[in-house]
Amino acid sequence: MICRSFFSLIRRAMLAGLLCLSGGLLPSSAITITTTWDWGTTPADDPNRVNVTSVWNSVVSYYGSTFQESYAGETWNIAVSWKALSGNQVANAGPSGDWKTGAQLLALQPTNTQIRTGVNYSSTLANHLAKSEVVTGTHIELNLNSTVTWDFSTTSKAAGTESLYTTMIHEIGHGLGFLSLVDNEDGTYQGGTPSIFDYYLAEGSTSLISMGTDALRKAATTSTNVFWTGQYGNDANGTPIKIYAPNPYEDGSSMSHLDFTVNTSESLIMFPSDSENPPNFSYSATELGMWKDLGYNVVPEPNTWMLVVVGGGMVLCIRGRRDAKA
Ligand SMILES: [Zn+2]
Repeated sequence: MICRSFFSLIRRAMLAGLLCLSGGLLPSSAITITTTWDWGTTPADDPNRVNVTSVWNSVVSYYGSTFQESYAGETWNIAVSWKALSGNQVANAGPSGDWKTGAQLLALQPTNTQIRTGVNYSSTLANHLAKSEVVTGTHIELNLNSTVTWDFSTTSKAAGTESLYTTMIHEIGHGLGFLSLVDNEDGTYQGGTPSIFDYYLAEGSTSLISMGTDALRKAATTSTNVFWTGQYGNDANGTPIKIYAPNPYEDGSSMSHLDFTVNTSESLIMFPSDSENPPNFSYSATELGMWKDLGYNVVPEPNTWMLVVVGGGMVLCIRGRRDAKA
C-alpha cells in the first residue's frame, strides 16, 4: 500500500476552530461510528454493495469493541465511497475536519497528562482527548476502489485478492491519526506542526521533533533507523518498535507504517503492505499499545496483555497493490 500526503490540503486546512466545552462522563462504552455512503454509479442491486456493507459492519463492530469512548456519545463520523480509483490504489483514507493543537485541548482538559503541547491532533483524537465534540462533521474519509478483486471474508484472504476487511481497518487507522506529517522533501512538517504520531518518532534515540535542523529530519526519513518511543507500544512489543523508513523514500508508505521486521510471523495491520506472512485480522498488542500512546482508550489494555493519529483538510493514505505480489 502506498500512502500519499496532500500537503496543500492540510495547509489550507489549518483553520482556527471554536472549542466547545461540555462535560465528560466516565469512559465505559464503545465508540459510536456513523457512516455516510457514496456508491458512485454502482447500482443499488449490485451484489458488491451487500458484501461491502456487510464487511463494513464487521469493521464497525471491531472498532467498537476495541476503542472505548472518553465521553458519552463519542462518535466517529466516517464518509465511505465505493468507486473506481486511479492508478494502482486499492483504497485511500485520512483524517477529515479541523486539527487541534495540544494547547487547545489542554485548555479544555488541563489535567489530562496524555495531551502534548507542540503537536497537532486529528479530529477523532482531538474529540477523544477533549472529551467533547470539538470537531464536528466528517472525521474520516475512506475511499475504496470498486475495481479491485476483493476478498470479503473477515477471517481469511485468498491468493490474488485484497482483503477488504483488513484494508478497511488499516485505512481507518490512518484516519484515526496513525500518520506522520514529516515532509520528506525538506524535513519540515506539513502545516508546520508535527502530529502526535510524530511526537513518538526517533532516529535511533534522537527525537525527530527535537532535531536541530530540518535536514537532519529529512535524512531520518530514509535512515532505516526510525523507532517508536511510546511506552505502551514499546512495552507491548518488548523492544522499540521499528517504523518503516526505507531508502529510497517511498511516497506515502515511509514513516507512517510499521517496519516489516516488527513481526516476522504475522502480517500486521499497519504494515505498509501485505507481507508473505499470514494476515492478522485484528490489531496486534504492539499496535494497540501505539493507539494507547497516541491517546485512545483501547481494549484490551495493552499492558495487561503479555506484554501485549490543520482545519477542514485531510491527509490521504493510499493503499496500493504490491506489483510483485500475485
Ligand atoms: Zn497505510
